[in-house]
Amino acid sequence: MTAPRWDVADGPGALPCHLVDPEVFFAESPADVEAAKALCIGCPVQQACLDGALDRREPWGVWGGQLFIAGVVVARKRPRGRPRKHPVVEPYAPAAARQQGKEAAA
Ligand code: SF4
Repeated sequence: MTAPRWDVADGPGALPCHLVDPEVFFAESPADVEAAKALCIGCPVQQACLDGALDRREPWGVWGGQLFIAGVVVARKRPRGRPRKHPVVEPYAPAAARQQGKEAAA
């Protein structure tokens, strides 16, 4: 996906964040956050927006194409919930087949 180019001559109302639902820039979903960051690409005031957000230590949201959490830029938004302590282990295939056979016989 290529982000559309925005022209300063279009005025502040034409900034990408002024043309979409502002909630996208404060989304919970990592996919929505990435979509908001993509909207900032090509914004004519992206660098000034980012500099301002850094100066203000914005507590939350996408500013200048970066995600801020607690005043600092973070690379990616983590999904909600506690991270797993252990990786998910798929059942061993023969064991899974035996289990399916037991269930089919019952
Ligand atoms: S860089 Fe700033 S002004 Fe431009 S679209 Fe993103 S949040 Fe809006």
